[in-house]
Amino acid sequence: MIPSIETKFSCPTSKTDLWNMHPRIFLEFDNAGYAKCPYCGTVFQKKEKDSVIY
Ligand SMILES: [Zn+2]
Repeated sequence: MIPSIETKFSCPTSKTDLWNMHPRIFLEFDNAGYAKCPYCGTVFQKKEKDSVIY
């Protein structure tokens, strides 16, 4: 699960390991705030900006 504050984003992310790379695609969160990459299966969860922990 990768938290993200962006509504639109691409996968792989900068955090993706090299061995897990695939062609870049753009994803959008659904109404529930989740998005799953069809390539690597990474699940992204939308987060509010004020709740992001750095
Ligand atoms: Zn991916």
